[in-house]
Amino acid sequence: MTDLKFNVIDLVELQLIENAISARSAEIEKVKNNEELVSAEKEFTEVKEKFDKINGKYNDLDSNRKKLEDTVEMQNEKIKNDENKLFSGTITSAKELENYQIEVKILRQKISELEDQILEIMIEMEEMSEKVKLAKAEKDKAEANIKMIRNEMNEKLEVLKNIIEGLKKRRDDVILKIPDDYFKKYKEFKGKKGGIAVAVLKDNFCNVCNMQIPAIAAEKIEDVDEIYSCPICGRMAVIYRGEIDSIKKELES
Ligand SMILES: [Zn+2]
Repeated sequence: MTDLKFNVIDLVELQLIENAISARSAEIEKVKNNEELVSAEKEFTEVKEKFDKINGKYNDLDSNRKKLEDTVEMQNEKIKNDENKLFSGTITSAKELENYQIEVKILRQKISELEDQILEIMIEMEEMSEKVKLAKAEKDKAEANIKMIRNEMNEKLEVLKNIIEGLKKRRDDVILKIPDDYFKKYKEFKGKKGGIAVAVLKDNFCNVCNMQIPAIAAEKIEDVDEIYSCPICGRMAVIYRGEIDSIKKELES
């Protein structure tokens, strides 16, 4: 079974590349399942609710105040009209005169009450304004935190996606170097053996099943350019050499 016409390390490299792709893909899932983001979003929902509630109350008070001020303005307008009438000299009846005077008095009374109400509202708003500001600051902070986490997350995802793209290119290049029948075998084992088709035998141990190769079998495993089969797990197996560690290191960086 000698003279393979290809470097058996290519097969190991293919396996290592696919392991690296799986590991990076798992990292992507981990980055996407960002617990920090979930809790930041929860926090934001809470502080936003708090802000909306207090801010809504504050705005209600303010629109109430405006309404009352409009009413005061209208009443003042009425008084002005009445007074114009009173001083115009056109009123001749004492009764009519008295009616106007009474109306002005009632209007003034009403205005005074409205102004008290406005003052009360303004005091309440003044007391609330600090709380509104604090709630807004809290909401803004939570929002900025989410943005920061999302940005960091997207940066990490971008890096990982680029790494995977590079790995896939490298995988394509390695596949070209492997003869079809070996690549077929590789795919077959990959499907049957939980995604790992190729094992490395080092010091008579299989690095995938972690079992020791029986002595009799180990004696026959001696050619570094040969593809063997692990007597325990049955995977394609090659003998360890330093090059494998270099490839691993490259793929991890
Ligand atoms: Zn094995």
